[in-house]
Amino acid sequence: MVEQLKQLKRKVLIVEDEPINRKILETILDNDYEGIFARDGVEAVETIREQSDLLSLVLLDLLMPDMDGFEVLKFMKEDKVLKQIPVIVCTSEKDEEVKCLKLGAVDFIAKPYDHPAVIKARIDRAIEIREDRGLIHATQNDSLTGLLSHDYFMEYSHFRDLHYNNNPMDAIVMNINKFHLINELQGKRAGDDILIKIAESVKKIAKENGGIAGRSGSDEFLLYIPSGSDPEAILQKIENGIEDMLNNSRVYIRMGIYKNVNKDLTVEHRFDKARIACNSIRGVYSTQISVYDEDMSEREALNERLIHDMKSGIENHQFKVYYQPKYAIQGERDSLYGAEALVRWDHPELGLLRPDNFIPLFEENGLIHKLDHYVWDEVSKQVGEWMVNFDLKIPVSVNVSRIDIGAPDLEEEIFTVVQNNWISPGMLNLEITESAYTENSDQIIKVVTKLRDKGFSIEMDDFGTGYSSLNMITSIPLDILKLDMAFVKNIHEGNKDMKMVELMMDIARSLKVRVVAEGVENQEQYDLLKKAGCDVIQGFYFAMPCAPKEFEKLIQRENEEMEEEIKAALG
Ligand code: C2E
Ligand code: CA
Ligand code: CA
Repeated sequence: MVEQLKQLKRKVLIVEDEPINRKILETILDNDYEGIFARDGVEAVETIREQSDLLSLVLLDLLMPDMDGFEVLKFMKEDKVLKQIPVIVCTSEKDEEVKCLKLGAVDFIAKPYDHPAVIKARIDRAIEIREDRGLIHATQNDSLTGLLSHDYFMEYSHFRDLHYNNNPMDAIVMNINKFHLINELQGKRAGDDILIKIAESVKKIAKENGGIAGRSGSDEFLLYIPSGSDPEAILQKIENGIEDMLNNSRVYIRMGIYKNVNKDLTVEHRFDKARIACNSIRGVYSTQISVYDEDMSEREALNERLIHDMKSGIENHQFKVYYQPKYAIQGERDSLYGAEALVRWDHPELGLLRPDNFIPLFEENGLIHKLDHYVWDEVSKQVGEWMVNFDLKIPVSVNVSRIDIGAPDLEEEIFTVVQNNWISPGMLNLEITESAYTENSDQIIKVVTKLRDKGFSIEMDDFGTGYSSLNMITSIPLDILKLDMAFVKNIHEGNKDMKMVELMMDIARSLKVRVVAEGVENQEQYDLLKKAGCDVIQGFYFAMPCAPKEFEKLIQRENEEMEEEIKAALG
């Protein structure tokens, strides 16, 4: 990298009133530097002010009309930025040297210029010293991968732009989905090896494209490269590099690109935008590349607001629990079997927000646990009330986020919630998404076993999307399988999705667990699922998620139908 930067042409300002001397100095620079000129002190000061960012060195004649070299030095010394630019004074007066040093000059060249090679060497050295000193405060390389560290990367990118300002550039941020799991499951050494390998590829890609590579944070990689490269190809190269290190697990790298960066923004800011794009596909396994657009910034601002408002939202009971009924369909009549509690946020300014708007966000930063605890408590309270007022006998299911699984003593926590509300664990079922099982099966099996020991029933949510192996599913303790909506959506007599559903029904039968199908919207789906032996159905076919008052009507109706049934049975 340092080598690469050395090849960039730096600008040297030659301040000389005599044309012949200007020419000589330019020749000495020998195409290694780009010489620009000022004919007197006034012009020099103007140029220095305008191009302070771009100047690597000033060669300053002392004796000039209007404003002389001393005054230029004085002017530069008084400015925090300008005094960083090294100045070599060109003079025939030995006596002036001390005065110039005091004013901040770094070296002297004696006139007449009869040792070009020496002069050139002094110019090189002055520039080198200055650049080394300027960059030394940042730790240059990341110790694990040898890539440029964050601060150094930012500085170099800035530098690069100064020299190639017209070049359109892309800022790319790459991150590994759930990298911590690799560390946990395969050990830190394996994690480090993967990072090193990725770094190698990233470095190579930077080199091939004439860009800059860096690493910031444990699993975040940065690329600053000329526009026009193919992101798919870059991703492919990196993934190929680590392919045989993964023993069967998959590492998903996601990539956010801010194309053709606006160079009025700081480098840091440009990479913030790339990072926003990258984070917009966090946890979305079907998409690995995301290109930044301005909507994302709005979304990001909204997210920040939601995170900020969440605490007061809980305190002020803005989170409302809706209930969607589940019906058992294999009996004489369809009977109310249970319900799922689904949260909504009645935000004072933003209106009623669906969970998709905030649940994934709160999962990202761990806030979800607080919200889920609140929901468990609200639901337990509600269930207790309904038991007293309506003789409610059906359980209500709550969602337990994958993040909650990591909470210490989760079983004690939820048990305490139901106890405090005077209901039994049998009245609060727990839905846990299948993908949580595949991500961290050992831990989840432990937690789920403890929860069942406490008396809770476990429903495996979104079954069919988490890719559990048959082998695994038989060793997981659970009570109910919930078929994912995606299967239900496209079922027709004899088609592929229907065959999948039948297969899952077989699995359920062999595990001796009940099956709930969700997202059932129409008669055809209902009929097919009933025929396939599905026990319970949830979906718009019966009812949308509804507010507690609405749900009470469903309980009442169920109670009435039951009474009629009993009456009929008694004759
Ligand atoms: P989920 O657990 O898979 O919940 C089922 C979603 O399907 C609900 O969306 C429900 O309203 C919707 N749905 C029900 N029947 C139908 C139907 O027939 N057709 C269609 N198209 N959709 C139907 P909702 O309420 O927007 O919730 C979305 C997701 O948010 C839930 O997916 C769940 O993962 C999460 N969520 C909701 N409440 C909570 C909560 O309190 N805690 C946690 N951790 N997650 C929650
Ligand atoms: Ca659910
Ligand atoms: Ca579900």
